[in-house]
Amino acid sequence: MPLAIIDAAAVKRLRQGHLWIYKANVVNVRDARGGDVVALEDQRGQPHGYAFFSDASQITLRWCAPVGPPPDRAYWCDRLRQAEAYRKQVVADSNAYRLVYGEGDLIPSLIIDRYADHFVLQTLSQGTEALKDTWVDILHEAFNPASISERNDAPVRKHEQLPLQQGVLHGALPEEIAIHMNGVEFAVAILGSQKTGAFLDQRENYVAAARYAHGRALDVFAFAGGFALHIAPNVARVQAVDSSEEACALARRNAARNQRENIEVVQANAFDLLRDYDRAGERFDTIVLDPPAFAKGKSAVESAYRGYKELNLRALHLLNPGGILVTCSCSYHMTEPRFLEMLADAAGDVGRPLRIVEQRLQARDHPPLLGVPETKYLKCVIAQALA
Ligand code: SAH
Repeated sequence: MPLAIIDAAAVKRLRQGHLWIYKANVVNVRDARGGDVVALEDQRGQPHGYAFFSDASQITLRWCAPVGPPPDRAYWCDRLRQAEAYRKQVVADSNAYRLVYGEGDLIPSLIIDRYADHFVLQTLSQGTEALKDTWVDILHEAFNPASISERNDAPVRKHEQLPLQQGVLHGALPEEIAIHMNGVEFAVAILGSQKTGAFLDQRENYVAAARYAHGRALDVFAFAGGFALHIAPNVARVQAVDSSEEACALARRNAARNQRENIEVVQANAFDLLRDYDRAGERFDTIVLDPPAFAKGKSAVESAYRGYKELNLRALHLLNPGGILVTCSCSYHMTEPRFLEMLADAAGDVGRPLRIVEQRLQARDHPPLLGVPETKYLKCVIAQALA
């Protein structure tokens, strides 16, 4: 069995619940090739379970199994079964969900999404990549799916020196499939240049937003129209705004598919549109802001802060008294305290008291692991302008 010796700092980190061990904390690696599962020992020879070894990434080891026999197919099968059992508890009224959320399911760097009878893998490290056939095999056996694909075009794979690729691994995948969540139907394209047609992590936030949405509404950065479609029944009209033509087409088709005639799709740059609306004196009762991650890395946090603030500021200018702001950030680097600080800063600038109605995160099928802050990335604050 290949072996990795880790230092005391790494042991402490594991004890605090983190699963990642950086290169600097690895003392020695014996007989291991990139992607192998290695036994972990500290410098006194005490065992600490098993980890995926990467020969390229700064994250050299990812803990993946406790002290005992090395993880085999039965071990992974059991993990997947537990992942599914948990989803049965937390996912209601949807045939699309994240079946495996990496660290949150103790299978670091493995993502498996389910869209009806179609499964989509992301193997984001050498370790989960090396086990790709095992994942396909277990899924096949447990679910007898119509198809299994890989969507391995995530740039993080570059850190692992893994190629960016996508394709069908098993079965047949139609160009577009229909999924439903919370009584709303979506068309989803799993492979291709676009992102998939649904953001599963916002599923619960859509329902939360609908609880308070009223009057004239704006869904900014709408993509396929997830928020607009969910709030449409409770508002007079909603405009879904996105700068991408493809996204707008998707949102229009989803609106038609769900017979929502009060959704109007607008192709525009969000920043410009919000400013133009303010100049024109337009006002809204509900505004959703769900921008792409502005902060892709630690160094970009300050410029991202300004971006979020500018956006929230412009939205707050447009909000009627009593109006609802649903504001999101999917950037891990923009931490929750920082995000709230940004919002307070923006509210202060427009001189409007804002009350927090709900402070939310990603849907429960994307469960953060307590010791791994990186797994807690989505913030969704629902606030009300009191004046
Ligand atoms: N709210 C969506 C997800 C949004 S993803 C949902 O629930 O499904 C972010 C979206 O922002 C993408 O569709 C992208 O096309 C769009 N976008 C990025 N920059 C933009 C800009 N400056 N103005 C408007 N839309 C933009």
